[in-house]
Amino acid sequence: MNKKIVLTGDRPTGKLHLGHYVGSLKNRVKMQDSNEYEMFVFIADTQALTDNAKNPKKIIDNVLEVAIDSLSVGIDPNKTTYFIQSDVPQLTELNMYYLNLVNLGRLKRNPTIKEEIKQRGFGLSIPVGFLTYPISQAADITAFDANLVPVGEDQIPILEQVCEIVNTFNKTYGETLVMPEYIVPNTKGARRLPGTDGKQKMSKSAGNCIYLSDDPETVRKKVMSMYTDPNHIKVEDPGKTENNPVFIYLDALCKDRKKYEELKQHYEQGGLGDVTVKKYLIEVIEEILTPIREKRKYYEEHKEEVYEILKKGGEKAREKASKTLKRVKENMGINYFE
Ligand code: ATP
Ligand code: MG
Repeated sequence: MNKKIVLTGDRPTGKLHLGHYVGSLKNRVKMQDSNEYEMFVFIADTQALTDNAKNPKKIIDNVLEVAIDSLSVGIDPNKTTYFIQSDVPQLTELNMYYLNLVNLGRLKRNPTIKEEIKQRGFGLSIPVGFLTYPISQAADITAFDANLVPVGEDQIPILEQVCEIVNTFNKTYGETLVMPEYIVPNTKGARRLPGTDGKQKMSKSAGNCIYLSDDPETVRKKVMSMYTDPNHIKVEDPGKTENNPVFIYLDALCKDRKKYEELKQHYEQGGLGDVTVKKYLIEVIEEILTPIREKRKYYEEHKEEVYEILKKGGEKAREKASKTLKRVKENMGINYFE
């Protein structure tokens, strides 16, 4: 039986953070290690350039950072095709054909795009490439015939738009593209981990992150200054755990579910101080980050190995994507010389 194909990626706009870990990375590695799927994972540099065109160095430098983070979390190049988006020109070519299948009104209505435009303060100065990134995402996903796309909640509207593009293409040119499905984590916190500020989602662009590469002292400081329930002033006061980022983090990260439930109940009842809960959260985070940091050290000292992995991954990715592109052009009828 053919294995289901999985595709996911990250924008190299900064180092990877805990939101990525719970929202996507953890699940990616689990799927990879189950050997039940054919995995493609990529670094979305072309997409990251859409809102960073004037600052390419940031993107170029972060390609390496994101690669090191991903390998440190457990992406295994022997099991997963790991590559850089711009290294696969077939994706850009597919994007060009898909651009014509979506109208401006639909793009502007996409709630994620709307939020990201607001977050970046774009208004009418929005780069056209950024507005159309759901379309390039359709190219990325369909190029690999992906059936499954593990993402965080913010990407659901983008994936819905991708499905519409697939549908339109297949209706217009005949069955050509595979219809993808998205998978999101099962807890609310893991689908959209809030930032340490408790307001927006943890996001590289918002500067409210705990990075996978943060050292223990940085993690401690970030957790200790995290927002909690503002009305929980004295230890004996009953506290709110809902919308309390410290508890959302624990829910998303803590493996010991019994302990989590106990802490939650105790906090709601009163008598449990923020400092105690935060200290436990630091322990939970450290348990996750310690092995990642160790592997990171290795790759930081072997950067040439990282580039070699990506280069080989690019070759495999081009092979697969060029088959899809060929099929697309045939079905569109623009294969003039065959
Ligand atoms: P940027 O701010 O540049 O968009 P980002 O922090 O949102 O960066 P992306 O590279 O856009 O990170 O996201 C990669 C993947 O991680 C996506 O599937 C996204 O849904 C998921 N993800 C990102 N942030 C979170 C979060 N806070 N909680 C859960 N999943 C997340
Ligand atoms: Mg994002």
